[in-house]
Amino acid sequence: MEAEQKLWGAVKGELEISISPTNFNMLINQSEITELNGEEVIISSYNVFVHKNIELKCKSEITKALKHNGYQNPVVRFVMNNKKKSTEIKRSRNKAPGTTDQTDDELKIVGGLNPRYTFDGFIIGSSNDLAYAAAERVAQQPSKAYNPLFIYGGVGLGKTHLVQAIGNHIRENHPKLKVIYTTAEQFTNSYVNYIRTKDQNYHKKFRETDVLIIDDIQFIAGKEKVEEDFFNTFNSLYLKNKQIVIAGDRHPSVIAGLTDRMQSRLGMGMTIDITLPPYEMRMAIIQKKAEVKNITIDQDAVEFLAEQIKTNIRELEGFLTPILARCEIQNIKADLDLVKGCLTGLKSTHTKHITARQIITKTAGYYGIKPEELCSSSRVKYIITPRHVASYLMRTELNESYPNIAKAVGRKDWTTIISSFRKIDRDIKLDISLRNQINEIREKLYV
Ligand code: ADP
Ligand code: MG
Repeated sequence: MEAEQKLWGAVKGELEISISPTNFNMLINQSEITELNGEEVIISSYNVFVHKNIELKCKSEITKALKHNGYQNPVVRFVMNNKKKSTEIKRSRNKAPGTTDQTDDELKIVGGLNPRYTFDGFIIGSSNDLAYAAAERVAQQPSKAYNPLFIYGGVGLGKTHLVQAIGNHIRENHPKLKVIYTTAEQFTNSYVNYIRTKDQNYHKKFRETDVLIIDDIQFIAGKEKVEEDFFNTFNSLYLKNKQIVIAGDRHPSVIAGLTDRMQSRLGMGMTIDITLPPYEMRMAIIQKKAEVKNITIDQDAVEFLAEQIKTNIRELEGFLTPILARCEIQNIKADLDLVKGCLTGLKSTHTKHITARQIITKTAGYYGIKPEELCSSSRVKYIITPRHVASYLMRTELNESYPNIAKAVGRKDWTTIISSFRKIDRDIKLDISLRNQINEIREKLYV
């Protein structure tokens, strides 16, 4: 182990100079060399986020540093190591969402934090695992992991849940730290009130906190004075190394109406998106929510619900809650008939049925090619990628079988569809641009 540590120490010495401090602190400092086999160097990370990003962002610099330290042709391998799980987040003692019937008013909401939102009650899947991992790190080490942490995504996908979970966790585990959660709207109201009353407590409140969580930041855009005041609050906290966590509906660089300087401040730490939950994840959410309430839900009912409701998690909950309530009251299980019965009438407005053909057309359109080209046997890259993406979407959105997907995109051999699905599923984790493309197409499918 000594040789590994020594080498890692030397490599880190170089990287500290050659890569950005953010990448150094959040990626290099969270990883280590755990094995040396000849020219092969194994670098372990202990958190999914770090693991996914270190290779992407630091591989070439690490290779360079290894060359300076006696490795002529280093083969760097990055692995995810679960051994150090001792650092895993202490599970919150709060009940998971859905375990009580209390309304928000009845709950003890302190500093804007609702104890219903915990890490424990947050279901992780491919659409939110990176955001979850980053949130977990911030909660464990406020001001030391990522600052600011900016989480963005469409409505009902769990942004508020996640940023509130950070606040609740910090409050529970670092009781000395002062945590404030506010929405941009509440912040605006406080500012307006301050202008009216000149109440000096206003600045004290926001600038003397240890952790400031601000939700729905997009509402500040276009309100010049409020934004300026928030800008000053942000700077004042940041200079004192206080943790700032922000949620918004899109990446800071595309929030219209924000000044350039505000956009750059918001984006200077870690920005991560939460995207629409794919089919498997929707099933997991339904199962877990029923489980928490101790209600049995048949597999075909779970599948049916997950197929019907594709928009977002809030909507999924909106449908599920009355169904589960009914089962609870009548002491029955949720079967397909019951679920179907509960959904009739609402179906047409809330869910949209899409077909494999629509996926092909929209995907082809998005990439500027013809649907026939997508389904042709062409092997050129500008056609292969759209074909892979369309196949991927048929699987995640329609739960279509591989042979059917193969037929739809004009392939004879459906095993190639399995490999292309796996490829996209892997690439989507590392390639933010591909992830954005798939999200944009997915959103177009349901409008
Ligand atoms: P947003 O702020 O992105 O609009 P919310 O955080 O308000 O979304 O989430 C909407 C609802 O869905 C909340 O009740 C939340 O608890 C639930 N929810 C969202 N994501 C998850 C998840 N991954 N696991 C469990 N519940 C979730
Ligand atoms: Mg929200």
